[in-house]
Amino acid sequence: MGAITMATTKRALITGVTGQDGAYLSQLLLSKGYEVHGLLRRSASAEVVDARLRWLGIAGHIRQHDGNLTDLSGLIRVLREVRPDEVYNLAAQSFVKSSWQQPLLTGSVTGIGAANMLEAVRLEAPEARFYQASSSEMYGLIQEPVQSETTPFYPRSPYAAAKLYAHWMTVNYRESFGLHASSGILFNHESPLRGIEFVTRKITDGVARIKLGLSQTLSLGNLDAKRDWGHARDYVQAMWLMLQQDTADDYVIATGRTVSVREFCRLAFDKAGLDMDDHVRIDERFMRPAEVDVLLGDASKARTRLGWTPETTLEDLVGEMLEADIRRLGMQADR
Ligand code: NDP
Ligand code: GDP
Repeated sequence: MGAITMATTKRALITGVTGQDGAYLSQLLLSKGYEVHGLLRRSASAEVVDARLRWLGIAGHIRQHDGNLTDLSGLIRVLREVRPDEVYNLAAQSFVKSSWQQPLLTGSVTGIGAANMLEAVRLEAPEARFYQASSSEMYGLIQEPVQSETTPFYPRSPYAAAKLYAHWMTVNYRESFGLHASSGILFNHESPLRGIEFVTRKITDGVARIKLGLSQTLSLGNLDAKRDWGHARDYVQAMWLMLQQDTADDYVIATGRTVSVREFCRLAFDKAGLDMDDHVRIDERFMRPAEVDVLLGDASKARTRLGWTPETTLEDLVGEMLEADIRRLGMQADR
């Protein structure tokens, strides 16, 4: 008698499922046949919470669990219930600028919150594979012109300091308890689902408003800062690939191209057929107490070990974001 093989559905738990990456990762995992569970924090405005999941048409396919990264007992309960094969810890207070206004909250969610997740996994699901959303912000005041897994860190904000703690806790739980815990050091990645406060989305939304005659100016801070910007859809592939490896490890995920905020802005204005110099104003309010001047990643390890390469060019990313913002504003006007 031949052996009966049963296809088992993999279960994933995603914290930060309502954020940009959570939405794209959910879409990817659903397309691979996963049962996707998401941790959602309760909101008084429940109707907007899953807007990104609805934008991708997948809201109804995510099994939602009430929880907060700061509440360890809740996390333990969710893990006991879900019994995931893979855990993606994407939740965070993720906006660098806010982290100076709310340093302790950022520390408790972005830093201690990750430690809570690691503890919950160690206690309830030690066989599960764990992904930590680490950040290129940890390089901060860069110690090498191109940053890789071996570049020393120098965090420049409460956000980056919290992420660094979470990163080292992930490494520590791997080394101390043998957890399959990987840390993805992701450089900035954007999409039409990026939060409106981040500079790329602020620019494409601002350009769309000017194009549609809803506004005349766009106020920005430091135009000279340079970032290595990729597409979130490409980057969630790397997260998944990390958890498919036999051994856990840390990986830089980046495009290897860096451009200034000014150049990003010019690309967006050019695509809309507008002259940026007619519309952009510099506003001190958007400057930071300490700046990360430039980031540029070397993702060779991910390319070699994971077979990962980014697919979307910066030009296509800007085009996709701008088109989506024009469409979104058009839909609002029709209401
Ligand atoms: P978003 O800001 O879009 O999403 C953050 C998510 O965290 C949201 O779902 C938010 O929920 C949730 N969250 C915030 N606080 C809590 C809490 N206390 N308990 C539970 N959930 C909470 O971030 P991205 O999707 O862009 O990024 C995903 C992760 O990757 C983050 O950790 C970010 O710091 C990190 N990262 C991002 C990079 C990028 O360029 N995008 C680069 C490197 C790292 P709610 O919807 O309720 O607010
Ligand atoms: P970050 O790299 O995670 O801080 O992502 P952001 O998109 O918030 O910022 C990227 C860079 O753009 C930083 O160096 C900011 O100082 C710079 N920047 C310039 N103007 C603005 C602005 O109006 N808003 C934001 N968020 N950033 C700006």
